Amino acid sequence: MTRKIAILGATGSVGTSTLDLVERHRDRFEVVAVTAATNAEGLANIVRRTGAKLAVIADRSRLKHLQDFLADADCRVAAGDEALVEAASGEADVVVGAIVGCAGLKPVMAAVEAGKTVALANKEALVTAGEIMTRAAQAGGATLLPVDSEHNAIFQCLAGSRSEDVSKIILTASGGPFRTATADFIAQATPAQAVAHPNWSMGAKISVDSATLMNKGLELIEAHYLFAAPSEQLEVVIHPQSVVHSMVELCDGSVIAQLGVTDMRLPIQYAFSYPDRWAAPMPPLDLIRCGPLEFEVPDTTRFPCLRLAFRALEGDPGLAIVLNAANEVAVAAFLDGTLPFNGIPEVIGCAMDAHDLNGTSRIRDLDDVRVIDEWARTFAARSMSGLQ
Ligand code: NAD
Ligand code: MG
Repeated sequence: MTRKIAILGATGSVGTSTLDLVERHRDRFEVVAVTAATNAEGLANIVRRTGAKLAVIADRSRLKHLQDFLADADCRVAAGDEALVEAASGEADVVVGAIVGCAGLKPVMAAVEAGKTVALANKEALVTAGEIMTRAAQAGGATLLPVDSEHNAIFQCLAGSRSEDVSKIILTASGGPFRTATADFIAQATPAQAVAHPNWSMGAKISVDSATLMNKGLELIEAHYLFAAPSEQLEVVIHPQSVVHSMVELCDGSVIAQLGVTDMRLPIQYAFSYPDRWAAPMPPLDLIRCGPLEFEVPDTTRFPCLRLAFRALEGDPGLAIVLNAANEVAVAAFLDGTLPFNGIPEVIGCAMDAHDLNGTSRIRDLDDVRVIDEWARTFAARSMSGLQ
């Protein structure tokens, strides 16, 4: 039976891996909708490759370009937020959430509310609205399947264990490009150095997040919502080889780990095949060559973002939204060359301090999320002018 699939963020790194899998499994999938932010030509090429019936460009000013590129194609084109929501909640059975940042939240929520199977890479959506989203999934019958490699690994490690027997969820982190760098080197880090990840090839924002360890921080919060795990149950270990994708420790001391090659097609494919398994699209892990496997304690002095994420997990529910929004603004400024690398945790920490002074927040719906998100973006942008 073929399943109808919508790929949100089809032109990105996860989107490209998804397209590779879809093409390898043509008999299993029919691509019905694809979306992108601004790259009209890239999106049009994807429409030609997949035969998608709906193509959505988020940036309205690019709609005319998309129309021109697809003038002779049997594909409806649309632009803007409502069209993204339509792509996510329309005829697809499976929706791949591969937009980067909080921009993916509304369409992912629309897919969840429409009861879809959601293969979720867009961790920022869960970080900012995890409680609302997991509740909506339970209420509406949607299935949330993690694509992030650590969460996909944990999902596999948890299979067959009772939740009361789980004592710890252990997320592995590569440590990023600055794992062994001195504090002085990190202070001078350039965008080109920060995006040069040792093990994975990814989009620019998540690559910077990996360099600051904020990626692991966001993943802690993601794990908290996906697996209903309190902060005390969550741990991060640095594992430079990225062979063990994450682990679960059980009450009898057994540790279950999932190992594999560093290729996002592996977790994406498992989200597609679950609960079945399909043949791998790449050679399996070479155990003899992949070692030795090392594990280290994360250094939260050189990488304070991890500490900020634990603080967000343990504090006011609005803090995770603030952490994420300030991080998005600060990372964009760092990539633009207007903020030093260490300015990223500084901006986030200041925004979190200011949020805490505002009192407690109640997050009932996406409007509440939006208000805090917008406040934090404005605050972060203002505070950066003092750090540049
Ligand atoms: P990317 O930058 O390569 O691609 C992002 C995609 O989102 C593109 O298609 C882009 O057009 C679209 N997009 C960006 N801004 C948008 C906006 N405002 N509105 C609509 N669409 C927009 O990013 P990526 O590396 O593929 O990461 C995507 C998500 O998956 C992120 O949340 C990231 O944290 C997560 N993730 C990525 C990887 C990886 O290996 N790349 C691994 C795990 C998790
Ligand atoms: Mg990850």
